[in-house]
Amino acid sequence: MKELYTNMDSSRIGLYKSILDEAGIASYIQNENTAQLVNMISPIFQPTLCIVDDDRYDEAVALLKPLNYNETSELPDWACAKCGKSNPGSFEVCWNCESPDGVS
Ligand SMILES: [Zn+2]
Repeated sequence: MKELYTNMDSSRIGLYKSILDEAGIASYIQNENTAQLVNMISPIFQPTLCIVDDDRYDEAVALLKPLNYNETSELPDWACAKCGKSNPGSFEVCWNCESPDGVS
């Protein structure tokens, strides 16, 4: 068993699990019910998606990567060089003028 992904948002965890299910990777969700009970009091009780078969961990990570698996790693906001608007780090182009990140 290996912990794959933890998120306060249990619906996102559920989505990821269904993707693993479809790929035939056995997984289960820890703390799913506990999180509802304690209602986000402690991060210890965050729902956690776990892989049953450690050997498939890398495969699972690769599967979830396109779905912002790494969204918890904080990307810095960036300011658009063209219009000066501030954009979240996850945006690849400016939300305002669609100018790409880093292009002046
Ligand atoms: Zn812009």
